[in-house]
Amino acid sequence: MPIYTPPLRDQQFVLHEVLGAVDVLRQMPRYAELDADTLNQVIEEAGKFCAEQLLPINQTGDAEGCRYDASSRTVTAPAGFKQAYERFCEAGWPGLAADAEYGGQALPHLLQIAFYEMQYSTNQAWAMYPGLTIGASECLHVFGTPEQNELFLTKLVSGQWTGTMCLTEPHCGTDLGMLRTKAEPQADGSYKLTGNKIFISSGEHDLAENILHLVLARLPGAPAGTKGISLFLVPKFLPKLPTTGKGREATVGERNGIYCGGIEHKMGIHGNATCQMVLEGATGWLVGEANKGLPAMFVMMNGARLGVGVQGLGITEVAYQNAAAYAKDRIQGRSLSGPKAPDKPADPIIVHPDVRKMLLTARAYAEGGRIFAYWVALMADMQHSATSEEDKAFGADMMALMTPIVKAFMTDNGFRCASECLQVLGGHGYVREWGMEQFVRDARINMIYEGTNTIQSLDLIGRKVLMDNGAKLKKFGKLVQAFAEEHGTSTEMSEFITPLADLGDKVTKLTTELGMKALANQDEVGAAAVDYLRVVGHLVYGYFWARMAQVALAKIKADGDKVDPFYTAKLATARFYFQRLLPETAYHIRAARSGAKNLLELPAELF
Ligand SMILES: Cc1cc2nc3c(=O)[nH]c(=O)nc-3n(C[C@H](O)[C@H](O)[C@H](O)COP(=O)(O)OP(=O)(O)OC[C@H]3O[C@@H](n4cnc5c(N)ncnc54)[C@H](O)[C@@H]3O)c2cc1C
Repeated sequence: MPIYTPPLRDQQFVLHEVLGAVDVLRQMPRYAELDADTLNQVIEEAGKFCAEQLLPINQTGDAEGCRYDASSRTVTAPAGFKQAYERFCEAGWPGLAADAEYGGQALPHLLQIAFYEMQYSTNQAWAMYPGLTIGASECLHVFGTPEQNELFLTKLVSGQWTGTMCLTEPHCGTDLGMLRTKAEPQADGSYKLTGNKIFISSGEHDLAENILHLVLARLPGAPAGTKGISLFLVPKFLPKLPTTGKGREATVGERNGIYCGGIEHKMGIHGNATCQMVLEGATGWLVGEANKGLPAMFVMMNGARLGVGVQGLGITEVAYQNAAAYAKDRIQGRSLSGPKAPDKPADPIIVHPDVRKMLLTARAYAEGGRIFAYWVALMADMQHSATSEEDKAFGADMMALMTPIVKAFMTDNGFRCASECLQVLGGHGYVREWGMEQFVRDARINMIYEGTNTIQSLDLIGRKVLMDNGAKLKKFGKLVQAFAEEHGTSTEMSEFITPLADLGDKVTKLTTELGMKALANQDEVGAAAVDYLRVVGHLVYGYFWARMAQVALAKIKADGDKVDPFYTAKLATARFYFQRLLPETAYHIRAARSGAKNLLELPAELF
């Protein structure tokens, strides 16, 4: 079985030594009483839950998969999944960041993201059941009526009911404007929904007593395209309201007409049921306004995009831990510069430079991804809970700008790192026993669902950058500039500041150039988008790696010989990042600037 140790030391470094998270959070009235001990304790307990409850059922869940019973149209999750979910709910984890009003613990989103990281390291397939539930809660929180929230939101926050997002149909994935599921208004204010959805994660399972589906559908006479889509709440079992008491005391009633017609047999995340859902006149209720379903669903989708990005981080971390342990143990060949373990018949493979390159790649992307994702979570807290409108707007802008980068950059890196870590194990990585091939298979979906990484790249360059003339990007650029100015005179920091400032200039120039080209031909944006996201992703990681390097350098200076080796390792990894990973931006800038012609001149019939 793969190993996993929650990365508590690095999490604490990020939270307390670099981001100063407690100070930032305490400025918000909601978190005024928060202290570092609370943050640490929650993360420690969360890590324990993941290592003790989720890791042991990850490989077995992958081998067993979900089972579909056609006669009852039900799905059974792999052994142990239901029990782990029960423990998760008993401990109050589903409502970690939810409002106390609905039964939640009202802790920061930051903690939720840190918990997600560890869940995805230890069992991505399992973690998707509660993960989508939190996304559904966030959507209802914003768009649900007080009655809907009293009934449905409280059930999601307690974990008694789980949630799903039902967008995709057989003929429409990326292009949701083509969706056909119909919703007919009923005299009692409800709707009858009819249609077919596919690829619905956690669409049917035995973990919870009820499932609340958030379904996109069309009302009669709705405008064509995305402007005619509405959002509906469709429970698996209709809620039975008590004659007295509140909605949260509802129980499950009659079976509603939404069924699972089968599950997909897929490459990875076997423990998560990917369902075809059939709506046979299912009863549902409108969420938000008619024909404004897509913006409402975007609340869930944006939350899910951050979650998926963190799936990339979680897999990177666990793959790294396993590859590093293996590389220190496995002996093969001798170091080119002479034996390092002369008492053994061969040296451990960690002596070989290229093995180190693979390990350091995963380490640098894990640690860079962690600080980035946690900072973005802090921006989410700021957006929701800051007192000043200015801080709220800053949080919202950073969330909007960074969401596609979290989703695409972190999941591209996650798949690459899982593959490199598998390579560290040679042939042993390719066989099931060590668990590495599962990480590679599981990591692959993260680049596809929640909007493919190409769609994320188009979102970044089109909607998030060019549409507002780069205003949000400039706001982030100011953080980079301020840091560069503050530390620009330090000779020790120049190896980080010089390439960071240089990349900042190049991003500005590239953005202007692509903006100009886009005016003449929009295909230029499509041709450059994926390369552009990688370049901006490195600007963001470069900024956070430089900040981490600065803290590590200060500590090394202060503590001299007695310094905790954690800081020495941090500095070495920062150097690796700047010298070996960030330079790929040169290639991507060149590719982005090469234009659309080299992609479009070949006629389709010649492919
Ligand atoms: C395991 C799994 C779980 C899923 N879970 C859910 C879920 O819970 N709920 C849900 O609703 N859906 C879910 N999905 C669906 C998923 O979100 C879609 O598969 C994804 O959005 C892509 O849609 P598609 O598969 O139809 O591909 P298509 O839209 O057909 O795209 C095919 C290719 O064309 C590219 N492409 C398409 N349009 C453009 C464009 N305009 N510009 C550039 N490139 C383009 C895409 O990037 C992709 O590479 C899941 C899918 C899987 C496999």
